[in-house]
Amino acid sequence: MATDEISSLKQKIHQLECELAEQKQKNSDMERAKTSAAADVGELPIAVNEFEETLRRLVQRTAMIVQAEKCVIMVRDRETGDFFARSPAFGMTEDEVSRFRVPLQSGVSGEVYRTGTPTIFHDAELNALAQEEHLPDLRVRNGVTVPLIVEKRDDDSRVVDRLTIGVLHCFNKRYSGEFIDEDVRLLERLSRNAAAVIANAQMFQEIVEEKQKLVHTLESITAGLILINQHGRIGQMNAQARTMFDVGEEALGKPMAEVLKHEDCLAIINRKIEEAARSQDDVEIEPEVEVLPKTPDEVSIFDSEAEEYIYQVHAAAVRDDSEKPIGTVVIFNDITDIRNVERMKTEFVSIVSHELRTPLTPMKGFVRTLLDDENEEWYTLEDRREFYTIIDSNVDRLSRLINDLLNVSRIEKTGVEGIEMNWEDVDIRKSAEAVLDIQKGMTDKHTFVIDFEPEAIIAETDPDKIQNILQNLVSNAIKYSPAGGEVRIIGRIEPETETLLIGIRDQGMGIPETAQKKLFTKFYRVDNKSTRKVGGTGIGLFLVKNLVDAHKGHIWVESETGQGTTFWFRIPLHHPKPVGETIESENASDE
Ligand code: ADP
Repeated sequence: MATDEISSLKQKIHQLECELAEQKQKNSDMERAKTSAAADVGELPIAVNEFEETLRRLVQRTAMIVQAEKCVIMVRDRETGDFFARSPAFGMTEDEVSRFRVPLQSGVSGEVYRTGTPTIFHDAELNALAQEEHLPDLRVRNGVTVPLIVEKRDDDSRVVDRLTIGVLHCFNKRYSGEFIDEDVRLLERLSRNAAAVIANAQMFQEIVEEKQKLVHTLESITAGLILINQHGRIGQMNAQARTMFDVGEEALGKPMAEVLKHEDCLAIINRKIEEAARSQDDVEIEPEVEVLPKTPDEVSIFDSEAEEYIYQVHAAAVRDDSEKPIGTVVIFNDITDIRNVERMKTEFVSIVSHELRTPLTPMKGFVRTLLDDENEEWYTLEDRREFYTIIDSNVDRLSRLINDLLNVSRIEKTGVEGIEMNWEDVDIRKSAEAVLDIQKGMTDKHTFVIDFEPEAIIAETDPDKIQNILQNLVSNAIKYSPAGGEVRIIGRIEPETETLLIGIRDQGMGIPETAQKKLFTKFYRVDNKSTRKVGGTGIGLFLVKNLVDAHKGHIWVESETGQGTTFWFRIPLHHPKPVGETIESENASDE
């Protein structure tokens, strides 16, 4: 090689070393920014693009210096342990880079990484390690590979530790040349600085990725989570917490009192911060003190539709390695459902006791009256028959209630699948008439209409279950229209879909829109002045919905407060049999 060529190369190496030193400085700046940002639980600066640019220049210049067509850096994948080519590479397409992966112990990369010694191969087709790494597939003819070693030095610049973080490949010497030992020396010199830059950038990138992973994890947890930094500002707020307090991502960095406009929450958080500060002092005086678990605080938060949500609030101090508090983490657990069920259970017990006692009182009264008339002389036969009828209808009411309760517990245990169905062709008009016959006796304020088109409708259903559905809906229509009015049972056949549509319409108090979506929930009752006067357990519609589901049907409600309500349900006209069952039953009928 001519002397002036060597001196020009030396100059280029010097230039490259200056650039790398500059990048090293940038990396250590990033490192500082990263440490302070992590302490502040704020955003990290994203310098990944800058690193890519440096890497691009590095591979390009390195290829130029050793006159290679391709230059690529391989590092370890933390998750799989394989070597993979870092993008950008020089002289390789994005696709080739993404395909370039080898197990840690294989190929030229594995060998150089393991031994820490550079290597040259002259013919990829004949070299076993190059073959193992599928280098010929990447159109590689020959190459030189050096390890990327990071050196840790002490204050006197003595190397105290060495760590191999990857390898640097240069492939295909230009002008059909061969790589020589001089190339190895040049690469070794370049690779030391390159390794330091990559190690730093990699560490930085890992921290950015770790942070992003953490943010994504926090975002996806169902509890609300807020990190408050030591300056009382929002350091992190996950999606659930943002929804709870109806704020967007702009809340980050703002003072907490500005974002969490909820007196109780702020009071709890402030108290926890104080407790954390106090317990910090306590730890110093009496480190052995056992901290007893405290009962968690609860807050009620109303959403934009005035719906109440109850959260259990847990807060804890976040401390750094030296136990100094650097912020507070607050977690909100949604316990609305638990509290509602508890509330409903308490109400349910008192409602059911009341509902059970209601029929018992007249039964006891009339039985006592009859018993007192020892010689059957005080009451006429007609009076006595009336007393027996009242007792009889109250026994029916009691047994209906007990049946409903048993059915609820059965559905809870086995779900809708557990409802045993006895399918047969049922005259739905007759079922409606039978229900009205029973219900008519309960009221003299209501008129009843059966509005069927066609007049007679036959559907393959379970007769008892259909009767139970109609019974519940008609009895509700009467109960919740105390002023009277018309109760209409509508029946239609929908030939296109082979379904039956049934509606039970009243002219009663109606159901507020907010309550409509919860109607079919177990124990749910609309609680207002009008409904409080009417008895009930809140299980009727839950049962009805499950019975409609067992028919593979669908139920919904249309209602306007003060105007009336229509409960609609749609079920198939024929029992939708699973394929296997059809074949079996057809065979059975053949026999
Ligand atoms: P309940 O035993 O309370 O009647 P249901 O499950 O049958 O229980 O009904 C749940 C709630 O739905 C009732 O408490 C009532 O507030 C409301 N509701 C049901 N049917 C009607 C109706 N036809 N008109 C108005 N409100 C109704």
